[in-house]
Amino acid sequence: MARKSDTPGPRCSFCGREDINILQGLNNAFICPDCIKQGSLILKEMGYGASAANAAADLDLRNLPKPAEIKTFLDQYVIGQDEAKRFLSVAVYNHYKRIMQPKSDDGVEIEKSNIILVGSTGTGKTLLAKTIAKMLKVPFTIVDATVLTQAGYVGEDVESLLSRLLQECDYDVTRAERGIVFIDEIDKIARKSDNPSITRDVSGEGVQQALLKLLEGSVVNVPPEGGRKHPEQEFIHVDTHNILFICGGAFDGIERKIAARLNTQVVGFENTGKRQVVDKNNLLKYIAPQDLKSFGLIPEIVGRLPILTYLEPLSKEALRNILTEPKNAIIKQYKKLLEMDGIELCFEPQVLDYIVDKAVEYKLGARGLRSLAETIMMPVMYEAPSKHPGENNTYTVTLQFAKEKIEAADMLRMQNSL
Ligand code: ADP
Repeated sequence: MARKSDTPGPRCSFCGREDINILQGLNNAFICPDCIKQGSLILKEMGYGASAANAAADLDLRNLPKPAEIKTFLDQYVIGQDEAKRFLSVAVYNHYKRIMQPKSDDGVEIEKSNIILVGSTGTGKTLLAKTIAKMLKVPFTIVDATVLTQAGYVGEDVESLLSRLLQECDYDVTRAERGIVFIDEIDKIARKSDNPSITRDVSGEGVQQALLKLLEGSVVNVPPEGGRKHPEQEFIHVDTHNILFICGGAFDGIERKIAARLNTQVVGFENTGKRQVVDKNNLLKYIAPQDLKSFGLIPEIVGRLPILTYLEPLSKEALRNILTEPKNAIIKQYKKLLEMDGIELCFEPQVLDYIVDKAVEYKLGARGLRSLAETIMMPVMYEAPSKHPGENNTYTVTLQFAKEKIEAADMLRMQNSL
């Protein structure tokens, strides 16, 4: 069918161009390479051309990492949070087994295992989801639930989260349909219980209702972001049955709901700093679906997020490890940067403890570690590369130097910038 000619070939039946690499079909029809490319793009956008082969290559039961392997991978990037890692590893593994299960007559149907992670901000919820997606090489997107509103109101419709997923995989619908969507700040769309009926709860319960159909699995009409490229193409149809949804939220104050349920008294510890933290630690462990309902998630949403787990607040030791242990730990990054200038960067060990102490003192959490380290490292990165060759090529950051830089910094600004 295909032929290559050396003299100018026949005309392409689509664009009319003469081309030596033209392909001939039946009934004297011809097509040039450019039109083939164009056609393939159009099909892809319409959802027909999506390469099933690509998607299959992404996921194959034989290649699928086992839960213990998923956890080991997560350990390289995320410090602590063992419980959440185990839950996530099993849930993700089961999710992909479910997608790949061969059709059988025994009537056993594996149900979808969307996940909800509860834990204070900056404890690693997003990092966990991102790392899992990195490992599985599936399309992944993060959406903030606070930007979503009920259809017809100012804000984004819930379908927009599928638009983003599609963008992530270059509109390959088959791949998107096996992707992972991380919905952050799900607690912010909790039903406002004291909401008077005169105002509609369009960013709370309204959004939850709209999210329902996505979470349980249905075919959704997604507007292609960036406008329509072809007049006949209104929407892209995306089936969400096999998309894994991971939701995350801080659920501030949920300990009281848990305590009320457990019938323990946490109220009295309110102002006693340390004890409250200890209680909070213990209480999150007991989180149950009904606590999410008491917090304001509608029962249907809670039912569609069957895997519920929690993240621990980060201890000083965990913060210290975050600085140096993960594969792309901040300190490793600085060392690498200066290594490229031929400089060996060292830290007095107390410097790292000092950074952690300040992060705790100013309640900056794991996110603040980077800002603190940056404040200390800016002058180092400015000066060190200009050292003359032949000079001692080791640069040691001392505790005194770190203290000077942090004490001169505007901590309030740092707090506000997180
Ligand atoms: P969350 O989603 O819980 O609010 P993130 O996952 O966005 O928190 O964490 C913010 C940043 O803090 C991450 O990018 C990472 O650098 C650091 N971090 C937080 N928790 C951890 C952790 N457990 N291990 C390693 N780094 C962490």
